Amino acid sequence: MINLADALPPGALPQSQRAARYKASLALAAEIKQVIPGGVDSPFRAFHEVGGEAIFFEKAAGSKLFDLDGNQYIDYLGAWGPAILGHAHPQVVAAVKSTIENGAVFGAPHRLELKLASLIIETIPSIESIRFVNSGTEAVMSAIRLARGFTGREKIVMFEGGYHGHSDSVLASTGHSSSSGIVSAASSSTLMVPYNNLGALEDLFAARPKTIAAVLVEPVCGSMGLVKAQSGFLDGLSQLCRKYGSLLIFDEVITGFRVALGGAQALYDIEPDLTCFGKALGGGMPIGAYGGRREIMQKLMPLGDVYQAGTFSGNPTTMAGGIATIEVLKETNPFPHMEEMAKTLFQGLQNLKTKKGYPFNPEREGSMFGFNFSDVPVQDFASAKRINTKAYAAFFHHLLDQGVYLPPSAHDAAVLSAAHCLADIEETLDKVGAALEFAFNFASKLD
Ligand code: PMP
Repeated sequence: MINLADALPPGALPQSQRAARYKASLALAAEIKQVIPGGVDSPFRAFHEVGGEAIFFEKAAGSKLFDLDGNQYIDYLGAWGPAILGHAHPQVVAAVKSTIENGAVFGAPHRLELKLASLIIETIPSIESIRFVNSGTEAVMSAIRLARGFTGREKIVMFEGGYHGHSDSVLASTGHSSSSGIVSAASSSTLMVPYNNLGALEDLFAARPKTIAAVLVEPVCGSMGLVKAQSGFLDGLSQLCRKYGSLLIFDEVITGFRVALGGAQALYDIEPDLTCFGKALGGGMPIGAYGGRREIMQKLMPLGDVYQAGTFSGNPTTMAGGIATIEVLKETNPFPHMEEMAKTLFQGLQNLKTKKGYPFNPEREGSMFGFNFSDVPVQDFASAKRINTKAYAAFFHHLLDQGVYLPPSAHDAAVLSAAHCLADIEETLDKVGAALEFAFNFASKLD
């Protein structure tokens, strides 16, 4: 049995009303835990950072989510990134439906792989050649192996607090997703430096000449609060990599096809050697991809000696979702609209901060934003540690009760989509003021 007090941390509604509001979800949560560890297939879905029990959803359409109890939410999770066009965009749904009718997967080449590869290559100048996989994790894991194979070096540099999926060598990180079960050989091959600190990276390069295969970086960090690269940081990385003969890998799994059609590399005008994609590229279908300079990509089997494979990689159904997504993005150019919506929301948050003096430092890049419940601006993992998870949890539950769904994690970026309209933003802002008041009051009582 689920203990109601644990299942329902304080929110906007009295406990009795909340029990009725989430009745079906609470019942399913109790049942599913018998057969799936924690009731989830990915840990942060379980509300373990914000407390309480996960909500079960039945349907998603445009900017809205609908739960098992029939409650409706304005969605700022966006499925953790994929829902760039909003949920169930008709063109994406039609493309996937008509493709799957001819067979979901062949395990053999087909023309949709060529079409999606060509669309990406004509959109992003640094990509001369690309491989499709099934998730962001696979994309990063494969890009790292390729970088090692290409350079003949073993070490990878990543930044403290970065998130690059759950393969061993990148999970050896200092972020909020650390894990046991990782062999020391995997973690000792990954070197860590603070984000936004070029000096630390230069020192590392100088101390370990000709050992570093690649520097792996999120051009905008999305999992330690939203952290932006300071002016000159990404350019500096590119120069240091060139100087020391290492590859620069951009992890654009969140930012790709989101912060701009050409991703963060278009926005910041940097050409990495390799780039990893996922999330928005598939418009909801499970996808990952990595690509870059042809000379490097030709090191992959069957041309070269770096192995990477996948039964479902590049399957027609996923390719159809990706093609439809990029075509709609190109035809409709929703980026100025998303920018406008995100700017309005962000401005509203800033106004509340100024008026009430709340200790938080929201950040934004395009349609991606972080509430950053920290009393100092978050610019690296040290400042990200100041994020007040208790206050965020109260904020999250207050808004959940009022039909606004945020990431159930104080550290993960929220997003909006092309389907979000001004009415969504205004309704959210109407509710955010009381939620902030509640959150910081609640947190101060705990101190
Ligand atoms: N890289 C980044 C920057 C991510 O945010 C994520 C997922 N949150 C990944 C890689 C891993 O992607 P996936 O969950 O599709 O494996």
